[in-house]
This record gives sequence, C-alpha cells and structure tokens, in this order.
Amino acid sequence: MNLVLFGPPGAGKGTQAKLLMQARALPQLSTGDMLRAAISSGSPLGLQCRGIMDRGDLVSDEIVIRIIAERLDEPDCATGAIFDGFPRTIGQAEALDRLLQSRGRKIHVAIELKINDEMLLQRAESRIREMIASGQVPRPDDTPETLRNRLEVYYRKTAPLIAYYRNQDKLRTVDGMGAIPEVAREIAAVLDSTA
Ligand code: ADP
Repeated sequence: MNLVLFGPPGAGKGTQAKLLMQARALPQLSTGDMLRAAISSGSPLGLQCRGIMDRGDLVSDEIVIRIIAERLDEPDCATGAIFDGFPRTIGQAEALDRLLQSRGRKIHVAIELKINDEMLLQRAESRIREMIASGQVPRPDDTPETLRNRLEVYYRKTAPLIAYYRNQDKLRTVDGMGAIPEVAREIAAVLDSTA
C-alpha cells in the first residue's frame, strides 16, 4: 500500500509514520529526514538546501521529486511506502502520481492529520524545551518565528492537497489533537478500511 501522510508542521506526521513503518512493514520516505541527512553529510545538495530549510521555506519541487524518484526504485518500496512530508505542493503530488503510474503503482490513501494552530505552537515550544533539557540541539527551523513561516507555507502551498486528494476520492482526515496511541488507532482504522 502507498500512503501519503500530510498535515501542518508539528501535527505528528513523523511520529505516526515511524509507528506505521513498524506496524505495516512499509518504508517511511521522509523528504525532511533525507534533506537533513544531505545537510549533515555536507553534500552540495545539502549546502543548496540548508538556508531554505532554516528559514522554513520549501526546497524546490525539482529537488525533492528527484530524491523521491531515486528512492522509489529501491527494492523495499516495491510493495508500498509511507510518504511523510512529501508531496507538499500540487506539483509534487502530480509528479508522484506520474512516477507511481509509470511503475504500475498508485497512491491508495492520503491521510490529513488535522490539528489547530494553537496546539502546534504549544507542541513546538515543549519540543524545544525537552530537547534543550536533555542536552540535544533543537532543529534550526524549530524556532517560534520560523514555525510561523512553516505554518503559513503549509496553508498556502500544501493545504491545496486536501482538495487534490478529495477529488481523487483518496482523502481521509484524522484528528491529530489526541494522544499518540489514539491517533495511531484512528490511522490504523482508516488503513484497515482502505485495504
Ligand atoms: P515538518 O513537517 O515538521 O515541517 P519536515 O521534516 O517534513 O518537517 O520538513 C522540514 C523542512 O524540509 C521543510 O520546512 C522544508 O524546508 C523541507 N522539505 C521537506 N520536505 C519537503 C518537500 N516535500 N518539498 C519541499 N521542501 C521540503
């Protein structure tokens, strides 16, 4: 099964994608993680993306589509994948449909994790506090100012995916406000009714 998980920053996509990866034995394809790995490795791609990500803006469609296209051809994606943080624009969603179609595959379901802005900002603040308390360095794009930009970018560029997947009859909305296991149960119910 190929599924897309999307929602505003801090909605819990990454956490739920990791749980799903274990529960459903599907690889998690997180463009955010892939781009952060490119930055850590000091590659030219990482250098190109660093400033854009630190500001909370989106990396170009061309770059993320190329990364996903390469990743899709690895053997572990043959039976499906969890797309986490990709697509993030209509252009990316159309490219993903084409990439899958040319391989005889398709998106089965797109899950929108819904959560209000106040909760997002609260979660982000506590995430920063916890990381600092445990001696970790918070992500450079996790400052309150950058988060506001990421949220604004989400509504402008990514939220149109709601209509895109609704038109394809693939949209399912899950309430992301609950505790992690509750949200995981809701997602499991959606997937069980899709399979
Ligand atoms: P979050 O969902 O918390 O914003 P991600 O790890 O998914 O975190 O993304 C972090 C940053 O990486 C984004 O703000 C953006 O700059 C970049 N990025 C990740 N995925 C994409 C994508 N599909 N298209 C463009 N930029 C992306």
